[in-house]
Amino acid sequence: MLDKVLIANRGEIALRIIRACQQLEIKTVAVYSEVDANLKHVLLADEAVCIGKAPSSESYLNMPSIIAAAEVTDSVAIHPGYGFLSENADFAERVEQSGFTFIGPKSETIQKMGDKISAKKAMIAAGIPCVPGSDESLSNDKKKNIALAKKIGYPVIIKASAGGGGRGMRVVHTDASLHTAIDVTKSEALAAFGNEEVYMEKFLSHPRHIEFQIVADKKGNVVHLGERDCSMQRRHQKIIEEAPAPGITPAERNRMGSLCTKACTKIGYQGVGTFEFLYQDGEFYFIEMNTRLQVEHPITEMITGKDIVKEQLLIAGGNKLSFSQKDVVLTGHAFECRLNAEDPKTFMPSPGKINMWHPPGGLGIRVDSHIYTGYKVPPNYDSMIGKLISYSQDRKSALAQMASALNETIIEGIKTNIPLHQEIFRHDAFKNGGTDIHYIENRLGLK
Ligand code: ADP
Repeated sequence: MLDKVLIANRGEIALRIIRACQQLEIKTVAVYSEVDANLKHVLLADEAVCIGKAPSSESYLNMPSIIAAAEVTDSVAIHPGYGFLSENADFAERVEQSGFTFIGPKSETIQKMGDKISAKKAMIAAGIPCVPGSDESLSNDKKKNIALAKKIGYPVIIKASAGGGGRGMRVVHTDASLHTAIDVTKSEALAAFGNEEVYMEKFLSHPRHIEFQIVADKKGNVVHLGERDCSMQRRHQKIIEEAPAPGITPAERNRMGSLCTKACTKIGYQGVGTFEFLYQDGEFYFIEMNTRLQVEHPITEMITGKDIVKEQLLIAGGNKLSFSQKDVVLTGHAFECRLNAEDPKTFMPSPGKINMWHPPGGLGIRVDSHIYTGYKVPPNYDSMIGKLISYSQDRKSALAQMASALNETIIEGIKTNIPLHQEIFRHDAFKNGGTDIHYIENRLGLK
């Protein structure tokens, strides 16, 4: 068992990880930037170390500072949460080289899956269906690229191999705009991710985003925890997630889930992870693997009754998975709304002081958030300030629960996207389930 874990993150996820550690009687070390001294996770942790100034480059992305904090506190492991350094293979390697356990897969695995071209290659080799595309980095050979786009069929999407967070993608409809799109995506990718490699894929016109959660221990045991539907997106960023995905049959779930667990065995995957797919006309197409805990993990926890973070900590400590595939039974339905400090119409971030916070409650409502009345949302980080999760025996009642939880939530002093969520929860198409990834942008006229 791990003795003391340093949490290299902030906000709701740091709090979530501390809760799991405390239940497993693992000691905790929080790290924080100068603007985060009053965050709840800092106060709840057994120890806390200030690692630098507010900008993430000087704190939560500052590898030497984080590793030094682990050293001075005698931590044995580092949990990276999501975002920040969670999918940074270099960080995972440095953590291991400094003698700590990195709570996540091996750095080679992060490297391989973080590069979307090499991830796709590994998935094709493991028998996972992928979006038809170049499967290789695009050269500057214009003729070859045009021929490739014709073969795949327009529209195509040019994607940065090192891309993430919905950035580094461009849709192309004609030969005439192909080269410029490739050039622009390349230079953007170089500036944003330090890697100019791009590849080409068929742009699917009306897919849903469906992803499978897997958990693998270090002894070769792998299970899947079913799927989540994350199609409610804006600018390729998830806003609402639900589990299970409407309309996915147990047979499809078993088939895809077992393909994912087999792929994990093949690539020697350890820890928790997510296989993301686009789903269109009854077919799944792999797009990428996330080698970390995800924002939306709670909805899977609700329908499986499994604590993903506790399992992640146990596995990192060398324990065998505490359950097998046959113990995974999906019950009921869960939704998650991401609460963002932003204008619900313009989506401009809205940092500032929260004058009043009244979270919702009642049967089946879970609130994962670090905010409190008087808390000042700093402008330096992601605008997500928490997550509302509803869980009930069926989709219809989970929907109704979320709608009333949204109405009950009070956040004053800053703008939030609650009005947007309220609107979506009134839409019949959303209520019926199975809407595609373009739904929000089309419906709200954002395109
Ligand atoms: P990121 O790593 O930035 O999250 P992904 O590859 O996971 O990038 O894609 C994010 C989103 O972009 C998907 O959920 C989907 O909405 C859209 N997308 C990506 N690839 C395609 C494609 N081939 N066709 C249509 N939409 C796509």
